[in-house]
Amino acid sequence: MEIFDAHIDTLSKIHLRQTGEVNFESLDFCHVDLKRMRQGGITAQVFAIFIHPRFKNIALEQALSMVELLWQLIDTHQDAIGLVKTAADFDKLKKENKISAILSLEGGEALQGNIGLLRIFYELGVRALSLTWNHRNELADGVGEKEPGGLSDRGKEVISEMDRLGMVIDVSHLGEKGFWDIISLSKNPIIASHSNAKALCNHRRNLTDEQIKAIADSGGVIGVNFLPEFLVDQRKNATIETVLDHITYLINIGGIDVVGLGSDFDGIDSTPQGLEDCAKVPAIIHGLEQRGFSGNVIEKIMAGNMLRVFKSVLK
Ligand SMILES: [Zn+2]
Repeated sequence: MEIFDAHIDTLSKIHLRQTGEVNFESLDFCHVDLKRMRQGGITAQVFAIFIHPRFKNIALEQALSMVELLWQLIDTHQDAIGLVKTAADFDKLKKENKISAILSLEGGEALQGNIGLLRIFYELGVRALSLTWNHRNELADGVGEKEPGGLSDRGKEVISEMDRLGMVIDVSHLGEKGFWDIISLSKNPIIASHSNAKALCNHRRNLTDEQIKAIADSGGVIGVNFLPEFLVDQRKNATIETVLDHITYLINIGGIDVVGLGSDFDGIDSTPQGLEDCAKVPAIIHGLEQRGFSGNVIEKIMAGNMLRVFKSVLK
């Protein structure tokens, strides 16, 4: 069965910790490395370029270094992984038995309000973008602002340029006004790459039922996040069962086509019991079977839904 994880911060984690040659086969300070991706049977992986707020002033340089880090990974392991630039690349890489790697920019800080830089990142292979992390930038307000406003004029331009280029719009971290701006502006299905249901865990990073329905109506997908704080009010109680609870809830509200995975591995410092790293992800398949989901629905959750959106948006 294919497994598509729509969000990890492994590039950022490596970038913060290490300079020089990186051993991507085995990264003992990470939740994800090539060895464990193979063990877990991960077939498609979105690598986020996350820039910590303390590097805001050098966001562009940081983002470029992380693009180069993924290129390094692909250059040194061409037999194992390849970069997705077009919709057809998913099937091509699958035939070659390679992991599909997708580059995503988490937060628009690196664009510095410049649409030209969006086009340059596209040329470099970036195929998804969330306008904000938790804070305000030139494009929009993140959920961490006191009363987040909507998209700026530049943010709206970025959305229409992303639609034109064929880039996936990611609303995780975005304030609610900005969310509704995107719903009314974009012609494409949108994703929340790593967010959960607010009804089950009342955290500002999670989505209301109305937001879940709007993403479903756009034809989009929500990647369930493994961070204990986003899963359950008492973080110590987070287990694989609480991940399955969010999957089940999202299906009840938005239908079987709205749910995917967005682990947030290497962006989270603790994990639910039973999902300690990417090698453990297949346990979700087993858990869904035990909850009585059919094989067809499980395939959609594990990969099919995210694949559908990326294939339809990418050129
Ligand atoms: Zn994030």
